Amino acid sequence: MKFDILTLFPSFFDSPLSESIMKRAISKKLIDVGLHNIRDFTHDKHKVVDDAPYGGGSGMVMKPGPIVEGIEQLRRKNSRVILLSPQGRPFDQNKAVELSNEEHLILVCGRYEGIDERVTDYVDETISIGDFVITGGELAALTIVDAVARLIPGVLGCSESAKEESFSWDILEYPHYTRPAKFRDKGVPDVLLSGNHEEIRRWRRREALKKTVLNRPDLLEGAELEKEDIKMLNEIKALKNA
Ligand code: SAM
Repeated sequence: MKFDILTLFPSFFDSPLSESIMKRAISKKLIDVGLHNIRDFTHDKHKVVDDAPYGGGSGMVMKPGPIVEGIEQLRRKNSRVILLSPQGRPFDQNKAVELSNEEHLILVCGRYEGIDERVTDYVDETISIGDFVITGGELAALTIVDAVARLIPGVLGCSESAKEESFSWDILEYPHYTRPAKFRDKGVPDVLLSGNHEEIRRWRRREALKKTVLNRPDLLEGAELEKEDIKMLNEIKALKNA
């Protein structure tokens, strides 16, 4: 899968893409990430990419010309162009799965006060990584590259799995434990040492539901739950209300 990123700071991506799973995915040619400096699409001597906002107000706004030219040069038949903005539709695991089926993503990173609104005519969608404002679109683009890349077959090793993770089955994931069996005054739940796979499965499901009730009850509204889950959920809720 090919990602092309339009940014004012291409070197921002150097370290994150040269570590761990992303590095391996790139060297195995499972993903390819092209970095493009928006300044390279300017035509003036000083490579100006921003200007003061019409109507007044603080900060600078990124000019439409260089960004649109960048998009036009990178766009192919199978491209999907995404603008990163806090004003976009929220990014989530379902969107990551949807994007992992694309062949080519072009991610446009804003800076300063944001991007001239007319750029939206040249993108397929606008995505936000959450209800907060960060300094630039680079972290948002990296978040998308990472979340999407790890869903591409072969990117995660056999010991790493995206199948049972949080959101992939509507609810949060169960808690994990590793050695030592006793850390300070806390042990590991007995069931995990029992070797009884069915008991472990049931315990994990119950704990995952518990975490979801506690931290993200909103996820349960649209969740596809099995009979066993609903029974567990009712027990958890009864305990919570007791
Ligand atoms: N003035 C803008 C507003 O209030 O909506 C915020 C601009 S922000 C400081 C600069 C750039 O960071 C944006 O153009 C966008 O590319 C990126 N950005 C900031 N927060 C983001 C978020 N939650 N999701 C995606 N991109 C974000």
